[in-house]
Amino acid sequence: MEKLTVNLQTIYFNLFSEFLSDSLKREDLLAKLVDQIHIILDISYVALYRLNLENQNYHLLAEASVLPSQSTEKTIPYNAIHRTEEILSNYLSPGLNSLYFGETLLIISNNDDFNNEIHIIIEETDKLLTLIDKVDKLKNSEHNHRTLYHLSTRLFSENEKEKVFIQIVDALEMLYPNASYYLLLAQDNEMINTTLPIKSFEINDDITKSMSTKAFMTGEFQMEDCLEENNTYLYAPLSGKQGIYGVLQMIIPLNNSNSLQQIEFIKQFSRLAGIAIERASLYENSKHQVSSLSLINEFSRQLNAKLELPEITKLLKKEIMDICQPTEIGFVYFDEYKLAELEIQSESTAYFKTLEGKKFVQQLFEKTLIESESIFSGKFDKSIQSSYQSIMAIPMNYSGYRHGLTVILHKDMYYFTFELFKLMEAFIQHATLAMMNAHLKAKLHKTVITDYLTGLYSRNYFEEVINKDMEQGEKGVLLLFDIDNFKKVNDKYGHHTGDQVIKQVANVMRSFSREKDIPARWGGEELAIYLPAISIQDGMKIAEFVRKQVGEVTDPHVTVSCGVSSWDKKENDSIVNLFLRSDKALYKAKQSGKNQIIKN
Ligand code: GH3
Ligand code: MG
Ligand code: MG
Repeated sequence: MEKLTVNLQTIYFNLFSEFLSDSLKREDLLAKLVDQIHIILDISYVALYRLNLENQNYHLLAEASVLPSQSTEKTIPYNAIHRTEEILSNYLSPGLNSLYFGETLLIISNNDDFNNEIHIIIEETDKLLTLIDKVDKLKNSEHNHRTLYHLSTRLFSENEKEKVFIQIVDALEMLYPNASYYLLLAQDNEMINTTLPIKSFEINDDITKSMSTKAFMTGEFQMEDCLEENNTYLYAPLSGKQGIYGVLQMIIPLNNSNSLQQIEFIKQFSRLAGIAIERASLYENSKHQVSSLSLINEFSRQLNAKLELPEITKLLKKEIMDICQPTEIGFVYFDEYKLAELEIQSESTAYFKTLEGKKFVQQLFEKTLIESESIFSGKFDKSIQSSYQSIMAIPMNYSGYRHGLTVILHKDMYYFTFELFKLMEAFIQHATLAMMNAHLKAKLHKTVITDYLTGLYSRNYFEEVINKDMEQGEKGVLLLFDIDNFKKVNDKYGHHTGDQVIKQVANVMRSFSREKDIPARWGGEELAIYLPAISIQDGMKIAEFVRKQVGEVTDPHVTVSCGVSSWDKKENDSIVNLFLRSDKALYKAKQSGKNQIIKN
């Protein structure tokens, strides 16, 4: 007996020395160990197991058999050995026995000569295995530290998220060539690169059912053995300081090498990966924000240069087209006084001019009004009929009022990112402001160029237009009207009625003016029309229409006299002379009995 102990210790010491000096690998050592036991006991079958404290299973390390068919399960639960005989019978075929000491388990075939030797053998084996584990741990820990250090220098030199993922996957491939692994990433971390083992994370409602969800939600490492597959599933959260970006899923063959130490390594690895992902995300976001800001700045600069409403819409459309590349884009503006009427702008794409498009806009409009905010969706509500999945509907609000709605559509699901949506909100806000400015400016301009009593153009504007036309045009005609015997109207009916008569005459003049003609109030009861690009004969005809109509429709009845003058590019002329000639002609008309037209 003592002899056996000494012998065994010598054999084991030699094996251990070889292992320490790295000339014997762990697996080879285990194989030799079992061979030795096999020889010493001289039995047909020996299998050596070691207990994994974390999963409470014995895992097969090595076996030696005379008959090739003899073998046992790779994994035997602790309970099967220590609690009930019935369970054990599920794992051991008849003729096999189990013996354990410490964390070591031997399965051997029955032997009649079976004696106490076996106890010495198992005790010595357990000692050796404990020593080997300790050495292994030291070796591993040094190796792990070195690996993590190298990995961190590589991971932190990458600023792009995708490159970080590539580094993580490279490292996993190197560290765990026999494992399968996936990076389960939260949606906004999704990558387009499909060659990487990346899956998008689907959050399960019942978090207890899904280990991956549990790891993601709690930020804690999760692990479960799948005995049917003979695999261990590990879930390590990829978390940084500000959030959890996903979960590293690893599927490792089930054996006792899934030691606490190895798990600690995977945890550290995933922590490092999480921080690297966060760092790259923050970097990309900051880059993104800077570029968004410069886009907004540039847009705002262009808006300030172009202040006309249609140009603003055109510019907005161009920017949205370039940046979002939508399938359709629609602009709807509302009239201040008739909110119910949606005015589809001509810049909108074809869909918005169809009946379906109009109906869709109406529904979106109501929805944004009820919810008083923009709509952003990548998978649009089926309660509204439309063939577009991705939608951004952004209201154009200004000083508490809704002035319009911009609708950006795409057929594909989840086409627009949230960042893009935020950028578009900023763009549309700027454009709305510019539109309101243009609108107010137009309103102010209209007030300035309009005569308050008649609604005709003011004399200032009238002169401005003629000046410009005499510079740029070919020819034009000036009709100067004066109401005949107007003093008498005032005397007889009063000033108020006098004003009404001026208005009636103004209306007649307006009704005979073409779009480009400029009817104006020259002053008092003197009114004028400037007719660009017309011959004096045609001008005379229009003057005649006005004269005749005034005589027919005014009440109290008045007539007008008219002086006509014209200019032509071929002759050297000036606005002052043009006026003087009309004035002279008018004077002549008055002299010749009024209610008539004289040209000069
Ligand atoms: P004539 O046929 O020669 O033009 O005679 P008239 O009475 O119309 O004389 P004139 O054109 O010289 O006088 C214009 C008068 O029209 C003077 C003024 O009392 C009156 N008038 C001028 N502006 C206004 C106005 O805005 N409203 C009213 N009610 N009367 C005005
Ligand atoms: Mg007069
Ligand atoms: Mg008069």
